[in-house]
Amino acid sequence: MNKAGPASDTFGCYTFSLPEMQKRLPRPIYEAIQATIASGEPLDTGFADEIAHAMKEWAVELGATHFTHWFQPLTGATAEKHDAFLSFADGRPIERFSGSQLIQAEPDASSFPSGGMRSTFEARGYSAWDPTSPAFLVYNEHGGTLTIPSVFVSYTGEALDKKTPLLRSMRELGRSARAVLELMGRPTKSVSATLGAEQEYFLVHRDLFALRPDLEVTGRTVIGTTPPKGQQMEDNYFGTIDDRALDFMGEVEAEAWKLGIPVKTRHNEVAPHQYEAAPLFQAINVSSDQNHLLMEIMRKVARRRNLAVLFHEKPFAGVNGSGKHNNWSLADADGRNLLEPGDNPDQNIEFLFFLAGALRAVHTRAPLLRASIASAGNDHRLGANEAPPAIISVFLGSRLTEILDTLLSGEDVSAVQEQVIQTGLEVLPDVQKDNTDRNRTSPFAFTGNKFEFRAVGSGQSNSMPMAWLNLAVAEALDEMWTRLKARLDAGEERNEAILAVVKEVYADAKPIVFNGNNYSADWVDEAERRGLPNAVNTPAALKALVDEDAKSFAAKYGMLQPHELDARYTILLEKYNRMIEIEAVQAIRMAKTGVLPAAYAQQALMADAWRGVEKCGIDAPVQKEELETYTGFVGETLSAIDAVRQALANAPDEEEAAERAAWCIDTTIPAMDRLRVVCDTLERRTDEELWPFPSYHALLFQ
Ligand code: ADP
Ligand code: MG
Repeated sequence: MNKAGPASDTFGCYTFSLPEMQKRLPRPIYEAIQATIASGEPLDTGFADEIAHAMKEWAVELGATHFTHWFQPLTGATAEKHDAFLSFADGRPIERFSGSQLIQAEPDASSFPSGGMRSTFEARGYSAWDPTSPAFLVYNEHGGTLTIPSVFVSYTGEALDKKTPLLRSMRELGRSARAVLELMGRPTKSVSATLGAEQEYFLVHRDLFALRPDLEVTGRTVIGTTPPKGQQMEDNYFGTIDDRALDFMGEVEAEAWKLGIPVKTRHNEVAPHQYEAAPLFQAINVSSDQNHLLMEIMRKVARRRNLAVLFHEKPFAGVNGSGKHNNWSLADADGRNLLEPGDNPDQNIEFLFFLAGALRAVHTRAPLLRASIASAGNDHRLGANEAPPAIISVFLGSRLTEILDTLLSGEDVSAVQEQVIQTGLEVLPDVQKDNTDRNRTSPFAFTGNKFEFRAVGSGQSNSMPMAWLNLAVAEALDEMWTRLKARLDAGEERNEAILAVVKEVYADAKPIVFNGNNYSADWVDEAERRGLPNAVNTPAALKALVDEDAKSFAAKYGMLQPHELDARYTILLEKYNRMIEIEAVQAIRMAKTGVLPAAYAQQALMADAWRGVEKCGIDAPVQKEELETYTGFVGETLSAIDAVRQALANAPDEEEAAERAAWCIDTTIPAMDRLRVVCDTLERRTDEELWPFPSYHALLFQ
């Protein structure tokens, strides 16, 4: 029985999609929107009233009562504030939605973090419609809300969100890639960056989740001992999906399809109760919005089905964490993938050019890419020998590396060109098949016709990682354009000139290429020899945002101004500190109100048993020893609690965000770790019936 019907029947029925606009809007307006979506051209605000009216008619027909601007503030995931369409004309109630309401809204946003920017500039924040991402309808039992993807900016133009920089980076990348193609004699109307985001997550029983305040409050378990059978058997990956998860996925997909999210793939991940969902790729801003939306849908569906979905990067110590692999590429106006090796030498030479551009970008701007994925949660993954390491490098695969190395070793480019075109480049389409040995340990892997930024955390927004990547590639392509132009002006043959630039760029960027095992200890040393940065935790990684060179880079391209980066640095550090401190408080509370009471009961059990045995005239020295040992752990728990408490009490002031973060790293986290070790020891030695929190075993196998 197929309850939901084919996906194509309902796909996009709750989005104000291009076909819907075509039906409802006069042709010139429809065409203007189409142009805006395709190439980011500004939309004539004179059309706003008509668009707003059509949007409202569509939404109200489907049962909407409210509308909201929907944006991505600097902390948290998304924000929205609903207003009813209800209005009054001559005392009569009607539904109204004006162009100005569509274009701009002023949420009472004073509580969103701005890192001091708003007070400095006395500018209030407002949200502005992003016409390049479709509006959609979110249902509740009383109707629906027309949801308008928006950016969130200050009146003086500072970006107070994650999406504004993303849109700016897309504009820059589109411009630079177009210029390159033009110079190569293949002009195109637009180039857009594409994203397919694979989302990993855990599903656990809601009743058990509700008994784990750490999971509820911090997203991860701050205590809890790993079960004997975790994922060691590696029998879960791509295994049969159990019914509970399948029913959940089915409901999520049905909702996602209606909202125009092309969810395509679903499977089990490495850990028990861990899964992945992957939609087809789209323009990055749309994909990024849709990923937020998909996470929202998952949360709601999970709640309905008495499940909890975990997006934290590391909910369970000792068990695989979750990422959000960002598959990234470039497409021209005809949808041609610029990172796809073609079937003729010209196309392949261009492919090598864009590939080299990406290498140069990652090599030059690795610290910013690392900063863009830094968070308290992701710190547990990066460098923890399971996820890609904190060292950013690129996996190219043996075939491509060989081709580029051949190019590099040739003294005379034209000789190599001949050789490469006639031998190497003909086999470039094979690169895609070479995909099988792609390196799962790499933070940034070329997977045949796209790059996969694997180090992004499962709970993070894709917007900033993609924004920095786009901008870095724009910079690399601009620089390569200049080199190519000079060669062409000097009369060099086109393909020869392109290959010469590829060769130069690859020679510089080669240290970023690493095809080996990123988890090995040797790589850390090797990376250091190569001069690759290794920011081992969030505070270290975030420093890249306030580096002078990074600031002038972001300002040069109009993505973010230096004071905006200062503000973001502070906001992200404060967010980090707060998260660590919340975890610490949570750990203390659970130890005091759960672990210790259980331990005292266990002690009483042990003491009673021992005394009873001795009363019978039987010596039980081992039981006594056991009780002494256990009592020792209880004492350690008490002193470990005190150490965490002191770490919190003695932390530097909140205003000293960097010092406070350093304190978290040096003092608070180690104290929490010690507390965890002893709590977990007690858990292994305490009657299961007495233990107040669901065990890992229960969470991961029930
Ligand atoms: P794999 O499973 O081998 O990683 P898939 O083909 O299943 O590869 O793709 C994984 C994700 O990558 C999907 O979201 C897919 O849409 C996306 N993807 C494929 N091609 C591109 C591209 N050109 N640009 C961006 N994402 C892409
Ligand atoms: Mg993949």
